Amino acid sequence: MFKDIETICVQGGYEPKSGEARVLPIYQSTTYKYDDPKHLSDLFDLKAQGHIYSRISNPTLDAFEKKIALLENGVGAVSTSSGMSAILYSILNLCKSGDNFISLASIYGGSYILFANTLKDLGIEVRFIKSDYKEDDIKALVDDNTKCVFAESLSNPNLEVLDIKKLSTLTNELHLPLIIDNSLASPYLLRPIDYGANIVVHSATKYIDGHATSIGGVIIDGGNFDYTHPKFKSFNEKDNSYNGVIYTKDFKEFCYITKLRVQLLRNIGSTLAPFNAFLMNNGLETLHLRMERHSQNALKLAMYLENHEKVAWVNYPKLKSNKYYQLSNTYLKKGGSGILSFGLKDGYEASLTLSKNLKLANLVVHLADVRTSYLHPASTTHSQLNDDELKRAGISKELIRVSVGIESFDDIKKDFELALSKI
Ligand SMILES: *Cc1c(COP(=O)(O)O)cnc(C)c1O
Repeated sequence: MFKDIETICVQGGYEPKSGEARVLPIYQSTTYKYDDPKHLSDLFDLKAQGHIYSRISNPTLDAFEKKIALLENGVGAVSTSSGMSAILYSILNLCKSGDNFISLASIYGGSYILFANTLKDLGIEVRFIKSDYKEDDIKALVDDNTKCVFAESLSNPNLEVLDIKKLSTLTNELHLPLIIDNSLASPYLLRPIDYGANIVVHSATKYIDGHATSIGGVIIDGGNFDYTHPKFKSFNEKDNSYNGVIYTKDFKEFCYITKLRVQLLRNIGSTLAPFNAFLMNNGLETLHLRMERHSQNALKLAMYLENHEKVAWVNYPKLKSNKYYQLSNTYLKKGGSGILSFGLKDGYEASLTLSKNLKLANLVVHLADVRTSYLHPASTTHSQLNDDELKRAGISKELIRVSVGIESFDDIKKDFELALSKI
């Protein structure tokens, strides 16, 4: 009916009937009522669509999932209790013990640890590749048990812009689904499925919620991958826990997301709470406005810092000096999002002084909400690492990461101006 992303942000996913609540209600109910036992048995056999139990689906979550699926140009979505569980499910839906997958090494630290440790313990092997990979590097890692490729569209914390088209052309050729973590870009700035990605995941905790109120995640299915290939056995064999359904046959382009919901969400249960889905849906209503302002403020701050005599370097993809500037013109046409990092000429001590003197910008671990915040990893989250370990984590001792909010830019600038003057 409507197609523009701004309209989907505000109105997508929830269509009340005459006399129903205009604003998405919070269905704070674990359970649902049926007039006829046949109705419930049809639901259990996946012959009818509807709600059985709120671990598996709920009307508030359903509206939020429909909206985010529309925003990402996917065929369906499943929300989860955190970004980490969304990422875990996106992989477990494809890989079992004995399988492997390929991931870019430059990804969120939590995802890296999940892949390298927890999944390893479950018998699933990750094969990391560098951001400047060559096609042959990936081809050399693929074998019969390789089931997918994982990457971030705008990487956290290094802010590398992924050439999604290039990677998806290769994964398509290799017949591997491409999963993209799109948390830092958000669907307003970038839609990976439009460039050939097959699955999108989000830490909805970040820009989707946008106000730092709730932890949540979401998996979106592009519906654009052919899982009938014999490699994807569990998609093509009868699922005896569900009346012998065969996902590719019975659910066609919805097979990935249906299987994820009825196997992983049902059996493991990392379900989003209805109240948190309500908050995230509220967040999405202003996503387009927020991302525009986040991007404008971040670019202005990046330019201001780049011209400051005490600043050694600034990393923001929309700066002409940035390695990813060209790619950002392709993939982040509407803006570079709100995250930047920079280093001071006087190193660690200067960063610590700055950290003590910023007032409007708050020291927090979180990023991607309306308030300007920053983190100096070397003196906080990464203070237990030695110099070598810091280097390996890609974090220099002076690095300060800023999540630029949507306050007045003049006030943000004044805050940095004053704090920098104390060095
Ligand atoms: C924060 C983050 C995650 C983890 O999400 P949670 O909601 O904290 O579980 C995953 N990926 C990226 C890119 C993130 O920034």
